[in-house]
Formats: sequence, C-alpha cells, structure tokens
Amino acid sequence: MDPTDRVLMSVDAAADEIVDFTRELIRLPTVNPPGDGYADCAELIGRRLTRFGFETAYFAAEGCAEHTTRHPRINVVGRRCGRAMRPLVHLNGHFDVVPAGAGWTVDPFGAVVRDGRIYGRGSCDMKAGIAAAVYAAEAIRRAGVELHGAIEISGTVDEESGGFAGVAWLAHRGHINADRTDYVIIPEPLYVDRICVGHRGAYWFEITTHGRIAHGSMPFHGVNAIEHMSILLDRMRRDLLPRIASRSTAMPIEPAGARRATLNVNGIDGGQPTDGIQTPCVADRCRAIFDRRFLIEEGFEQTRAEIVELLDRVAAEVPDLRCELRDLMVVHPVLTPGDSPLIGVLDRGLRRVLGRSGGLVASPGTYDHKHVTRIGGVTNCVAYGPGILDLAHQPDEWCGVDDLINATKVIALALMELTGTAA
Ligand SMILES: [Zn+2]
Repeated sequence: MDPTDRVLMSVDAAADEIVDFTRELIRLPTVNPPGDGYADCAELIGRRLTRFGFETAYFAAEGCAEHTTRHPRINVVGRRCGRAMRPLVHLNGHFDVVPAGAGWTVDPFGAVVRDGRIYGRGSCDMKAGIAAAVYAAEAIRRAGVELHGAIEISGTVDEESGGFAGVAWLAHRGHINADRTDYVIIPEPLYVDRICVGHRGAYWFEITTHGRIAHGSMPFHGVNAIEHMSILLDRMRRDLLPRIASRSTAMPIEPAGARRATLNVNGIDGGQPTDGIQTPCVADRCRAIFDRRFLIEEGFEQTRAEIVELLDRVAAEVPDLRCELRDLMVVHPVLTPGDSPLIGVLDRGLRRVLGRSGGLVASPGTYDHKHVTRIGGVTNCVAYGPGILDLAHQPDEWCGVDDLINATKVIALALMELTGTAA
C-alpha cells in the first residue's frame, strides 16, 4: 500500500484518541490573562510528545516580566529527527486561551462532545490544532513511514496577549530560526479548507489631551480636555476614516470587510472617575486608546505619520488644544511569499483529503506568524488548522470532529512531503 494511504488510515484509526487528547487539553483552563495552568498544559503536551518518540524540552521565559513564580510562562518543544536534521518542519500551537466570558450554555472547560462538535474555551483556538499537529506526526510513525527530515512541535504561551513570552521568546533564542528551521505551520483555526498566508498590521496608540482645571460653574476659566478629545475624535471621523476606508489590500483577508484599513477606539477616560463623588471641576485630562489595523500596502511609517499630521493640524486650528501621542504597540503585517512550497504542499493535501481547496486566506487580526518571520527570519510560514475563525473567543466555542480529523490528515501529508520520506 502507498505510504500516504497508510498514514491516512492511521489517522482514522486514532480518531478517538485525537478527540480525547483535545478534550484533555480543553479541561486545563489555561486562561490568559493571567496565564493559569501553563506548566500543567506544557507537561501534558510534553508527556505525549515524549511517548510519541520526541526529544522534549521545557523553556521557561526567563527575562520576561510576565514570567513570575505565580504565573510561570512555560513553553514546550519536542523534536523527532528522521535520517537527517533537515528539512526541519516546525508545528507551533499556542495553548493559552482567552477568558470564557458570559453566555455559555455548556461548561466552558467541560470539553463536552455533542453532535460531532467538541465544545469548550480554546477548542478551536487552538487546542484542536495542537492535537492535530501531535497526531499528524504520530500517525506517520504508527504507519511505519520513516521520514528523511525532522519534525518539531511546540506548545507556547501568551499568543493571546502578544506572544512575547512564547513564540517571540523561542525565536529570539534561536529555537525558531531560519538557520535551522525550514518551514513553520501554525494550526490556528483559519478554516479547514484554507491556507492562511499572513495578517494585517496593528498599531495601538494612546492620545492624551491636556486641559486646565477650573471651577465647573465657570468653565470659561478652564480648558476642558474631554471637549478637546471630542474634537479630535470628530476630526478623525471626518478627515481620516473616509481616507483609510478607501484603501484596500490585495491580501485575501477574510472576512472581506477587513480588507480595508480600520480604526477602533478601545477605551476612553477623562475628568473625574464616573463612579466616584463628583465635584464641580473642568476636566484637565482625557486619554483614549486606539487600535489602527493597517494594510501591508500602507506600511507603518505612513500610518503613524497620518495620525501625527492630523493631531498637528487640529492643534494649530483650535486655541489651547494640547495633545500628545504615545505608541503602545506596533505589529508589522506579514505575508508568506507566493512561491513558498508550503502553499503548494498544503493545497495538494487539501485536494486529496477534502476533495477541494478553498485557496488562500489572510487573517484580520495578528497571530504568532509575525514573530516567526520578523524575529526568526523564517518566511516559509503559514497557518493551517481545524476550526472556524469566527467561533474563536465566542461563547459556546466549538471545533468539529470532522475538521479535526481532516486537518490532522492534511498536516500529516504535508509533513511527509516537506521532510521527504526515506526510501
Ligand atoms: Zn489562536
């Protein structure tokens, strides 16, 4: 029998185990923030990898402020070599999940299976993806197929809060690096029939307006910082939003609404705390935080310059308006090169397993791809995994068992083709 047929059969034979492992992962509430249960989850993944023939190592994110005694940031990396160390394919999944939130009809950490769906916080984002990665490698071993190159699988922390103690930490220390890593696949839930080739950029910034305090019965003696913030917001709506909304990207972002640049106000506060005792005072300070998603075609420099220019213009026009801009976070857009072998390999796998390929997609939000490419220098990186992106972070999050098994097969075929099977 053809080795690929044997591997696909061995995935089917392991279906119950794959579902069970996903459920075990969901039952550990690795909620971030604050970063609960990371050590236990790293160990659960690590023990499974060791059992499946991987050399396994644990990496505490020493040097990161988030890594504390109470909430240690523990990453796990397993490696299984074939006849050679290269090509090396690295499968990475984050095991942190966002808080459950309200509105669940099932226990968010109960890992209930019903009507072919596994329910739970982190089911699709992305514990099913981790299970798919682990069992894709194991199915190859159980089928008795020997690989030429090597497979690495990592379970990492903090993707939901930026990934600095997770993939970024591993990449900074050379564990994910173009010198040794040929390909990276991140099994995020970006639709089981699509290959995700990157994401938009994100620029988070804070604007503070400074006024002058005065008695609230004589506001003309002061300068109200909240009113000045409202002028800035109005000017953004009038001058900036139509301009950025008119730009669209050639990247295949889904949903299509996110192919345009966007701006969201995350939060605003100014003047007196609204839940405290009130005194008659003019607000002398107002602060707002913004989330600007920019396109690869716009670039960060232009994106920031536009904000600076708007603030300068309004400050010149409005008497006494004083404001300052502070950068909070910049994530540059990434895009997998169109000729990356990963795309063709996964596309062939999709046609074989599902009988179709949905082609390429890009993500409206960012994920760990940025660290793999910008810190680790590995451009051959895509996201491919089970689950529907729209369900991520929602109440009653679920991943279809079919998706989970099919993605495991596609990843297994990709591992075989990318590392090469030994004759
Ligand atoms: Zn995720």
